[in-house]
Amino acid sequence: MDARRRPAKPLDGPVHPRSKQHRADVGVAGDASSLKASDALPLPLYLTNAVFFTLFFSVVYYLLSRWREKIRTSTPLHLVTPAEMAAIVAFVASFIYLVGFFGVDFVQSLILRPAGDVWTADDEDDDVVVAGADHDKILLKEDSRSSPCGQALDCAPVVQKPKLVDPVVQDAPKEKVIEAVPSAMPEEDEEIIKSVVEGKMPSYSLEAKLGDCKRAAAIRREALQRITGKSLSGLPLEGFDYESILGQCCEMPVGYVQIPVGIAGPLLLDGREYSVPMATTEGCLVASTNRGCKAIFVSGGATSVLLRDGMTRAPIVRFATAKRAADLKFFVENPANFESLAVIFNRSSRFARLQSIKCAIAGKNLYMRFSCSTGDAMGMNMVSKGVQNVLDFLQSDFPDMDVLGISGNFCADKKPAAVNWIEGRGKSVVCEAIIKGDVVRKVLKTSVEALVELNMLKNLTGSAMAGALGGFNAHASNIVAAIFIATGQDPAQNVESSHCITMMEALNDGKDLHVSVTMPSIEVGTVGGGTQLASQSACLNLLGVKGANKELAGANSRLLATVVSGAVLAAELSLMSAIAAGQLVRSHMKYNRSSKDVTKVSS
Ligand code: ADP
Repeated sequence: MDARRRPAKPLDGPVHPRSKQHRADVGVAGDASSLKASDALPLPLYLTNAVFFTLFFSVVYYLLSRWREKIRTSTPLHLVTPAEMAAIVAFVASFIYLVGFFGVDFVQSLILRPAGDVWTADDEDDDVVVAGADHDKILLKEDSRSSPCGQALDCAPVVQKPKLVDPVVQDAPKEKVIEAVPSAMPEEDEEIIKSVVEGKMPSYSLEAKLGDCKRAAAIRREALQRITGKSLSGLPLEGFDYESILGQCCEMPVGYVQIPVGIAGPLLLDGREYSVPMATTEGCLVASTNRGCKAIFVSGGATSVLLRDGMTRAPIVRFATAKRAADLKFFVENPANFESLAVIFNRSSRFARLQSIKCAIAGKNLYMRFSCSTGDAMGMNMVSKGVQNVLDFLQSDFPDMDVLGISGNFCADKKPAAVNWIEGRGKSVVCEAIIKGDVVRKVLKTSVEALVELNMLKNLTGSAMAGALGGFNAHASNIVAAIFIATGQDPAQNVESSHCITMMEALNDGKDLHVSVTMPSIEVGTVGGGTQLASQSACLNLLGVKGANKELAGANSRLLATVVSGAVLAAELSLMSAIAAGQLVRSHMKYNRSSKDVTKVSS
């Protein structure tokens, strides 16, 4: 949760009277930092301290002298007079006061905190604005020790100190200016860090030189902090397998970002139940999708159909004349030549199977859109290799062909493009459900009529008015992005994978609702890329689609695409209902009845 929105509610456990947490708990307004626990005492703080100091040393002196006297007169020590008893009680009381007041923080700081107190800079900056229902906003200092959990994982002690800055900069309210000072690193690493900082050793070469990816990441991270003067203390380093990303997922790592994973479901799809993992930081999204799953479940489930499965790549080649470009177009589109081209193409992988080549000409330039099945891989590498094979082959028959690029954007990868919307890319899926009128009312809190009308005016007409390209839906990209991140897909392919038209029609004389989502270009895989990383792999495992399908190549990735469409169906239902019910919410508000705002999910 955004720290700035975190309510200042009491945390569990004891609260030290001098802590900032305590000040927040007691609801201090105004300049909280100027208030002290001593405000609650009958005497000023210095007087209370003086009393207890005097008491402590007086009773210690008295008890010691009594002790010496008893030893001298051979009196048994356990025989205590009422005066001695009172002195012992006063000793214990004053001891507890002094340790409680001065000792605990000091002792804890020695035992628990790293040298140089890493919290100092944060303490000054973590202002939290808390607004109560009928109260003015109050400014509190959030205890900076409630930092992200990942910080605890990060063992590298990074010491921060307030930077000396221009007063103008200092006035900027949000910017947290801190300076990282060198951390204690193993001695043998210090030399390497220095070389990286001085530019003698390239940061990118650390993995190759050290043969230890974790150590390379730690050194790069430390060098980066020293070069930039910026702390990375909130970005965890520990708890990640850096070997697993080498040469495949990410170069020059310095840590990893944490994203919470929520579960929506069960999603009843094609007779099976799925718990759908969604990695997101958007509040309400998982809850909203979950509500849609419930509506689908109690209505008997959703059904999906995979319409097509083919990854595409379109190189651009140039000729001296448009006539020559057209010659090649007719050659590759001639069914008589398809078999020989497919044999060449399919050599790229035992999973790549050429399906079609569609061409577009712009003057003397030719774009050939190759489409092929790719098994359980999303398939970009596979299709690119196949295309390269074919280009090499064509070069002998068309020596005047000038290959400008393996990708000419007619593919089209990671850009909004009508070609994907119309022809499809990756998996094309349609998913539908019939939601009973009762469920629409009780679970979705709206009516069939309101949903059908809103869908027509928002998702169809509104999107047409906006000149949308594949965006005839309420928020498909929310769900696609969350599932993509959780399952290790390429998040950039969310662009075309979120193309979706949502349809809603009344059935059975307006009693029930038919809802569908048609998504022509869902690009997913269950092998390769980020899918093999531990967390992402666990999410795929949860869905039962981890890795390559042993019986039928491609079955896992196709199933994943249908789950994406099913989750989108659920989320569309829920958000559309929330918006449709907005009329109701408004009229409830009008009559002064509280109503939870369920329309927070962006649309
Ligand atoms: P992409 O083409 O999606 O970028 P990669 O080429 O990185 O994916 O990963 C696919 C790799 O996985 C290929 O080397 C392929 O031979 C291998 N592989 C193993 N099993 C399968 C499978 N069932 N489907 C697709 N590829 C598979």
